[in-house]
Amino acid sequence: MSKPTVAIVGRPNVGKSTIFNRIVGSRAAIVEDMPGVTRDRLYGNGTWLNYEFHVIDTGGIEISDEPLLTEMRAQAEIAMDESDVILFLVDGKTGLTDADEQVADLLRRSKKPVVLGVNKIDNYTRRNEIYEFYSLGLGDPQGVSGAHGTGLGDLLDKVVANFPPQDDDETDDGAIRFALIGRPNVGKSSLVNQILGRERVIVSDIAGTTRDAIDTPFSRDGQDYIIVDTAGIRRRGKVYEKTEKYSVLRAQRSIEEADVILFLINGAEGILEQDKKIAGYALEAGRAIVIVVNKWDAVQKETRTMDQFTKKIRENFQFISYAPIVYLSALTGSRTNQLLPVIQQVAENHSLRIQTSLLNDCIMDAVAMTPPPSDKGKRLKIFYVTQVAVKPPAFVLFVNDPELMHFSYVRYLENRIRETFGFIGTPIKLITRKKN
Ligand code: GDP
Ligand code: GDP
Repeated sequence: MSKPTVAIVGRPNVGKSTIFNRIVGSRAAIVEDMPGVTRDRLYGNGTWLNYEFHVIDTGGIEISDEPLLTEMRAQAEIAMDESDVILFLVDGKTGLTDADEQVADLLRRSKKPVVLGVNKIDNYTRRNEIYEFYSLGLGDPQGVSGAHGTGLGDLLDKVVANFPPQDDDETDDGAIRFALIGRPNVGKSSLVNQILGRERVIVSDIAGTTRDAIDTPFSRDGQDYIIVDTAGIRRRGKVYEKTEKYSVLRAQRSIEEADVILFLINGAEGILEQDKKIAGYALEAGRAIVIVVNKWDAVQKETRTMDQFTKKIRENFQFISYAPIVYLSALTGSRTNQLLPVIQQVAENHSLRIQTSLLNDCIMDAVAMTPPPSDKGKRLKIFYVTQVAVKPPAFVLFVNDPELMHFSYVRYLENRIRETFGFIGTPIKLITRKKN
């Protein structure tokens, strides 16, 4: 289920983000023009040979007002906590520096494998610049050029060779995996306690917690659930854990591992810009989503308070208009019993398959009611529709000419599919293909 993670560490300007971008490449986003959502390029997915993995650019996590060394120490700590393999990058043009040695000292003490990359080896004449880095005591340095891409394959060979062995327990065990995401202090940890029951000790803070301790399984009313990244939610105290970038990183990681996202908003505080960003990641990853308005006990309520808040949410999160909203209090436990049934329903929709005949009836009815657009006398014709995937559900529309399909018509068809089949809480994808 979980892919291995590589974290890139190194001084500023050695080329971390250049290498990161090379590894991650540009991933086609389904939500390019979403207002207010800028992508943080510090977490991404890479592939090499048969391996798929996550990549973190720790340089993107800035700890403000701290001396460089403290910041680098924190970045190295993040790498040691979050990754399976550390890619330590140094600068072959500048040569070995004190700061490199200090970071190397830290990394040598970690149990995680470290691959040493010497960047900016742009041409053959520079290849000798790598030798002085043997003194770091981190094994053979591998020359690479982020600018040209040379040496990157050899570097990735070394990285993937250090991945832990994968157990192939990918089988769908029927458990619903869900993650709680949201800004610090929104109440994630309190809600986990409320769901599991306070008396249960669920994670130990022992260093080197295993994957099992990070995720928490439980059963309720005959349904198995797994709360993803419980340990990450409960961890406290390190310098970097207070930074916004780190909380975004955590959110991105748990989104990757879950089917359903509980997106928490602080009802007493309202909606902030960061909330939109976090919700955007969940959408982009194609996960089902439930909006949870927490701390509802702390809100002064009048007759229409909830309606007004709902309206505000819908305005701010138009791109997830299908997400159900649950108002609750993790502190008092009020309405928290509504949550699991909603999660269950949304998870069902996320993996729902619609019979082809019903699907075609729905689309043909929609076409009859509002015919497709035409362009220069040519009209779009939809021949048939079929569902090609779940999690999230994806549909292919076979047409005479995909160029004739308009964004607004896709949205119209999506709305008709939703009206007919529900799909509450899950994104759905419509793909237009030319029928041959
Ligand atoms: P970061 O601070 O470690 O993320 O470093 P960046 O990726 O932002 O790169 C810092 C500078 O080094 C930029 O001006 C890059 O263009 C440059 N750079 C990155 N990789 C290479 C390389 O392989 N060769 C050369 N000559 N310059 C590079
Ligand atoms: P996290 O950082 O998202 O895990 O948030 P916590 O669960 O640690 O909660 C942060 C603070 O908000 C704590 O002081 C909680 O007691 C408080 N809190 C959490 N849920 C609620 C709630 O429903 N109502 C109120 N009034 N306070 C809450």
